[in-house]
Formats: sequence, structure tokens, C-alpha cells
Amino acid sequence: MESTPNVYRVTVDFCPAFGYTFSMGHLQLKDGDTIAILGGGPAGSFFAMHMAGLCKKHGISLQVVILERKTFLTHGPVGCNMCAGVLGGNIVNMISGLDIIMDSKVIRQNVEGFRLNINGMDAHIHRPSSRVYTVFRGMGPRREPSSEGYTGFDSFMLSQAQKTGASVLHGTVTEIVIPDDPVHGACVVRYTDEKNQPQELTAALVVGAFGVNSTLSRKFGFGYAEPHYWHTCQTELMAPPESDFTRSINIFSRRHSRFLFTAFIPKGRYLTVSGIGRHVKFAELMDELKVLGLDRTLGAVQGQDLRQLCHCHPRLPVTAAHLPYHTRVVMIGDASVSRYMKNGIESAFITSRCAAETALLKGIDEAAFREDYDRNCITTFARDNRYGKAIFFLHKITASDRHLGKGVISLIREERELPVEKQWISNITWHMFVGDKPYRAILRSLLTVTGGLRLLMRSFGRGKGKL
Ligand SMILES: Cc1cc2nc3c(=O)[nH]c(=O)nc-3n(C[C@H](O)[C@H](O)[C@H](O)COP(=O)(O)OP(=O)(O)OC[C@H]3O[C@@H](n4cnc5c(N)ncnc54)[C@H](O)[C@@H]3O)c2cc1C
Repeated sequence: MESTPNVYRVTVDFCPAFGYTFSMGHLQLKDGDTIAILGGGPAGSFFAMHMAGLCKKHGISLQVVILERKTFLTHGPVGCNMCAGVLGGNIVNMISGLDIIMDSKVIRQNVEGFRLNINGMDAHIHRPSSRVYTVFRGMGPRREPSSEGYTGFDSFMLSQAQKTGASVLHGTVTEIVIPDDPVHGACVVRYTDEKNQPQELTAALVVGAFGVNSTLSRKFGFGYAEPHYWHTCQTELMAPPESDFTRSINIFSRRHSRFLFTAFIPKGRYLTVSGIGRHVKFAELMDELKVLGLDRTLGAVQGQDLRQLCHCHPRLPVTAAHLPYHTRVVMIGDASVSRYMKNGIESAFITSRCAAETALLKGIDEAAFREDYDRNCITTFARDNRYGKAIFFLHKITASDRHLGKGVISLIREERELPVEKQWISNITWHMFVGDKPYRAILRSLLTVTGGLRLLMRSFGRGKGKL
């Protein structure tokens, strides 16, 4: 157990509106303290890296320990954090900003753009100069165990965190003990190690980076509740060579479907198929491929059985968590909040950076997290996600209406002749699926009178939906 109590400090900030502000009595991390990060996915690794940078800058020395149950060395869902693996330009730049070079061992493909297919009609949105990369989170599909010298994204990031001084303990966290008086006592994290032996670790700060595919969320007694989520479904296939599926990300939406959309993400010779719906199962994803008329095209590749390679049912958070902090505890990444439907890895980067800054520069008590981390980060995400929900609702309406769907596709095709900055609906679709702009800004560009009129004319006016 830690012997000396953590100290309180008065912090002085400069606020442009009010001049200097003083915040009194926040519980501080001190030299030699241990931080236990529960989960070594993107959020956990990014937190360790941000904290190392801050400690270096402020001359503080802390022990950062990441507890992770997976080694990321096994093929299939067991060694993978199950996602579509698309990295938009923002997160690619953020990672470069940490002086990390993601080489060709991590990146499977640089995609040229999107093909949007609504009710069987499609249009391309090309942005070859944009940096949109695809990665596998783990080692790749279960039934195709050749890694071809590649590294999974999560394993790569974990190794980068280790380079900044974090230690990684492979084990499963089973219990978190928060003292009745957390101001004067540290937390205890209990876990079983690789040999299945019970172990424990005392930590001044516990960082919950365990995502939403874990039962750990139930182990905190202070009122934390994980975000609501959708049960999605993914499968891996062999990509049809020299086809649209290998160059672009293909997004399919259609009327009367249980899926909001189905995305086909190229990764070299593989294709990840992500079915996004409220509660969708593998059999329904297979049916969807049939209805979309893709079972034959995709099944024809090397005579593959579509059920063969790999599949998983990851959860996709659609709300923010309730009370994601307490004195000496803070949640980050999916366990806290992420951008609605998109960019979970970027959200993990941002929440981990904000939480690390609050913990080191403001304090580790509940009030510090509420005043700084919650106000500046969680609330910002939650507010923007409201606009995101509206945008995806409009997308659903578009796909449900024959005329509107045709109108959108026809406008995207027509806009191809225009310079990129004038491509109204193509840019909106691009920003929506790459997630490189706040949802509020996307909705504002969508709700313009001229754009709306053009879409309505294309959908319902004379010469409607000309393709
Ligand atoms: C279908 C789908 C597609 C997606 N596509 C994309 C995409 O293309 N791009 C994108 O940016 N995001 C995407 N996401 C979101 C992305 O997967 C998540 O936002 C991201 O993984 C969150 O990172 P995290 O570190 O918070 O959680 P996770 O990645 O879930 O990591 C949590 C870690 O905690 C570990 N853990 C859990 N419990 C324990 C325990 N008891 N003991 C020890 N370790 C434990 C787990 O093993 C895991 O490594 C997608 C999500 C879904 C569902």
C-alpha cells in the first residue's frame, strides 16, 4: 500500500473572461505514484503515451502499468479488438504528432475514396490525396493465419506505449477496490496473471480503458454505468481482385433493412464487412449480402465459403457513460464517450489526452474530473453526437425513400465535374463517413436552402433522379 498520502494543491489558471482563476484543494498525483490502466486497446496505450509526455514536460516521475488480457498475437477475435479498422486523416495526423510512424507493417491499405450504394444505385466519391488508411486491430482473420509480416494496430500502439516507459502486464482484471475514503487511501486492482495466479496492484489512479466488450464496467460501485451500445456484426472475406471492393470503401444502405449501413473495407487481399445495426446477427449479415446481390460476387473469389474466414459481434457505443469518474478513477475511450457511429480510435486519442491532462495538471479527485475532463471533453462529444444522431437519422430516411436515395446518388454523380470545394453533397457524405469534421458543421452544410432545394428538385422535380 502507498504510505504517504497524495497532497492537495491550489491550481492557478488563466481564463480569458475572468483573468486568473484559482481552484482549491484538488488531490494531486505525486512523484513515484502508480497509475493502473485497465485495458491496452487504443485508449489505454494513448493514455500512457500522453501521460509520459506530460510527465517529461513537468518533471514528474510516475509508474504507468497497463493491464491487458489479450496478447494480440493470436489470429481471429481472441487476439483482436474487433472493428472495421478505418483511420481517417485526423487520427493519422494525431498519431504522427506523437512522433509515431505507422509503417507498411501496420497499414494494410491507403484507400482512394468511397462508393456509396443506396437501393442498388451507386456513386463514387474520390479523394486520392486524403490519408485514409485501413488496419487490422489484431493479427487478421482466424482461418487465414498468414500474417504476411504485418502487425496489428493495437499491438503496435501497445509497443509504442512501452517505449515511453509504461509496463504491460498481461492478465485479466477481476476486481477494483476503491477505499471508503479515497482521498487518504489508494485503490487496489486485483487481476489474474498469465499463469492464472491472483495478483494485486496498488494505484494512486485507476484509468478505465476497457471499452464496452468487457464485464469490468460492473465492478465499480460509485454509480458508473457504461454507454448504451448496439450489437453489430462483422466478417472477413477474401477481396475480389481488381474490383471496386479493393480500391474504395463501399457503403451500402437500403430500404427495409435491419442494417443502418453495411461497409466493405479493403485490407490488401482481405475485405472486412461491417454490418451496423441495433442488434444484428451473423446470419442476418449473410442474408443482407444475398439481398444486396453480393453473395455470388464475393463467394466466387477462390470459391470461398462466405462463412469461412472469421466473424465477430462487437458492441458499438451510442451514448456516453454515466458518471465516468470518481476520486482516483477515470474512464476513457469507449468506456467513457466516443463519436457517434464513427472514429472510435480518434475518440480514444482525445479522451485519453484530456483525462491525462486533467489528472496531471488539475487533480485526480472527482471535482477535478468534473470541472475539467467532463466539461471540456465528455460534454463536447455528447453535444456534437446529438447532431450526429440527426445526420444518421436523415441518412436512414434517405435510404428509406426511393426518390430521395436516387436524388442523392444522382447529385453526387453530377458533382464529379465540379471542383472539390463545390461538391456539396459529396463533401457532406465524405465528412460523415470519414468523420473529419464535427457533426454540427456537417449538419449546418447539409441544411442549406440552395442545397436542400437542389436535392428536392433532383428527387421529386422534373427529370427526377436522372442517373
Ligand atoms: C463494427 C465496428 C466498427 C468500428 N469501426 C471503426 C473504425 O473503422 N475506425 C475507428 O476509429 N473506430 C471504429 N470502431 C470503434 C473502435 O473499435 C472503438 O472505439 C475503439 O476500439 C475503442 O478503444 P478502447 O481502447 O476504448 O476500447 P477497446 O478497443 O475495446 O479496448 C479495450 C481493451 O481492454 C481490454 N480489457 C477489457 N476487459 C479487461 C479485463 N477485465 N482485464 C484486462 N483487460 C481488459 C480488452 O482486451 C481491450 O484490449 C468500430 C466499432 C465497431 C463495433
